Amino acid sequence: MQTSIIKNGLIVTPTGVVKADLAIKAGKIAAIGDLSGSAEEVIDAKGQLVLPGMVDAHVHINEPGRGNWEDYHTGSQALAAGGTTSMVVMPLNALPARTTAAEFNRHRAIAEGRSYIDFALYGGLVPGNQPAIAPMAQAGAAGFKAFMATTGSDEPGDFHNVDDYDLYRGMQAIAKTGLRLSLHAENAVLTDRLAEDEIAHQHTDVQAYIDSRPPMVEVEAVRRALYLAKQTGCKLHFVHLSTGEAVREVHRAQLAGQDVTCETCLHYLTLNTVDFKQIGPLAKCSPVLRTPEVQADLWREVQAGHVNAVTSDHSPAPAEMKANPSNNIFEVWGGISGAQNNLDIFYDVAVKSGRLNLQQFVQLTAAGPAQLFGLKNKGQLRVGADADIALLDPDQSYTLQASDLFYKNPISAYVGRKINCRVTRTILRGKTIFELGRGFDEQPTGRFLRNQQVTEADK
Ligand SMILES: [Zn+2]
Repeated sequence: MQTSIIKNGLIVTPTGVVKADLAIKAGKIAAIGDLSGSAEEVIDAKGQLVLPGMVDAHVHINEPGRGNWEDYHTGSQALAAGGTTSMVVMPLNALPARTTAAEFNRHRAIAEGRSYIDFALYGGLVPGNQPAIAPMAQAGAAGFKAFMATTGSDEPGDFHNVDDYDLYRGMQAIAKTGLRLSLHAENAVLTDRLAEDEIAHQHTDVQAYIDSRPPMVEVEAVRRALYLAKQTGCKLHFVHLSTGEAVREVHRAQLAGQDVTCETCLHYLTLNTVDFKQIGPLAKCSPVLRTPEVQADLWREVQAGHVNAVTSDHSPAPAEMKANPSNNIFEVWGGISGAQNNLDIFYDVAVKSGRLNLQQFVQLTAAGPAQLFGLKNKGQLRVGADADIALLDPDQSYTLQASDLFYKNPISAYVGRKINCRVTRTILRGKTIFELGRGFDEQPTGRFLRNQQVTEADK
């Protein structure tokens, strides 16, 4: 007897889109085809897309230490409601940050009882913690993350950016683990001092923030990191690239034989400088949102297949940190809350608009990010893989309200946006964890995912 069967859906597999049924047994996909056997549970997916659950490779959860920003319970519920079944959690903005094996194991234990979706954890590279790199790899880190831009917090235990020396030493240590180093690539000196110039001239509006982080600060940092990685043999991943020019630098290095990958985020593909001026502080992030021209260039690189993943960079904060009482955008927390709507908005702007086909869409939202971080059996609807599934109704539309959001702080740059599709059900390892109108499964069942170092044969 089959445990569950999803009938009549349009299934997006790695090789094509098929109108078929999908059977689930013991949490795995058991069969795809015209299935007639009995099942304990039959889910009718008529008119719906059956997608691999999103693998969001860039999420900030602030627990422990800042659970009032976002904790594993609220963050993972929001992601589940949006059709995400696995997340890779950044090592910063929790307090203390995840930069030792002891903290790594402590964070893992917290998430294990509280996350509704499966999760992998980054370890952090910060000044002086090279000796902690190998132990964190051993503890199961998905990869490592470092900041080339200034993180700006003086709180004890908070995450600090690396200078070129620490980056170089860190790359040497990480190269030995075989894991990827993911970089926030922006030139720290340039961004800091360009911002000082703006503030010195009393320019503290949205345009001043845009002017303080021009595309060249990203491109320069990408080029420098690529060169250092080449010297050390360290595998790289660039998070949240915001310019086509930076993606082309990565692509050129790939063609020259370097093991380097990159992601962009939903907000760089959907929001630009014009939107930033309309939305205000809720749309402040770094790198900053780009002009429509730079955004169009980034889209071309995505369409060309030069980007490995589209992530949310869900970076939550309490509402008061996203307010701007002194009319100084530089004092506002930089980060966009958006993980709950990654899949539906991206489907809307990518597939519905005709920019990408469904194969490209699932590659960017699921298969690509799963491959990057060695999440075996994730991100693909194929027999034998984990039955991690999102049902998406391409014919429903809704306008996002704050009351729809499950974040700890129900704020988002996307509130008020009309979205022309809707996630109706999310299934994790065969079990429905969210259903539109019914809500969440009672108990969180998310599991820790280790980087299983996907080999060439698995790709
Ligand atoms: Zn981030």
